Amino acid sequence: MKKLIIGFTLVVAVFLLYGGYIYENKDTHADEYISVYEEVEEVTVNKFENRRSEYIEGEKPLYVDGILLVNKEYRLPRDFSPSGGKLEDEVIEAFKEMQEDARKDGLVINIRSGYRSYNTQKQLYNTYVRRDGEEKANRYSAMPGYSEHQTGLAIDITNERTNRSIGSWFNDTPQASWLYENAYKYGFILRYPEGKEHITGYMYESWHYRYIGKEHSKNFNMNNLTLEEYFGIYEE
Ligand SMILES: [Zn+2]
Repeated sequence: MKKLIIGFTLVVAVFLLYGGYIYENKDTHADEYISVYEEVEEVTVNKFENRRSEYIEGEKPLYVDGILLVNKEYRLPRDFSPSGGKLEDEVIEAFKEMQEDARKDGLVINIRSGYRSYNTQKQLYNTYVRRDGEEKANRYSAMPGYSEHQTGLAIDITNERTNRSIGSWFNDTPQASWLYENAYKYGFILRYPEGKEHITGYMYESWHYRYIGKEHSKNFNMNNLTLEEYFGIYEE
């Protein structure tokens, strides 16, 4: 009986999620989308609760519904290294497809930063702390083990100026707008949306996209949802 109820809940969830996906105009349908999301919240909370016990800090990372969760609370083991220390092939494939479609719309997008090892992140973080102090650095840089870049699933995207260090200048580029509108179609989500710093712990990063696969990313088409909210692990 319990299995039947879970099965039924999942069918309803899929139906509701798809309902959210088909809304095309993000402004007109914002209210509907939010109410659709509220309906599925309970299901994702359960998924998180079922997996949380499998997390062992520093030894076993946390996967929820196949999504690797890395944030300020859940970190990666020091030696966690995907695909032998590079971006996952699936991410590269998805990015190439996205890059080609952006090109058709007249825009160049490139990967500015992909996989970063624990040690690289450590050096980077220490540099930022020396420059800006710990409190400020923590708003835009992750401590080693806590960076999504170590997953091999996160990328910083830039335009044709691949040598320019990425930053808020990217916010106003047509590339940032294009990604905002389209990235979810390729499995990517804007990981640190504007106005969500109290949830993610990071300031808005218009360039940082996280690959979670299309099945999940389609629920993020308005870029106002964070992974934390998706899993129901954030409370106002
Ligand atoms: Zn990044």
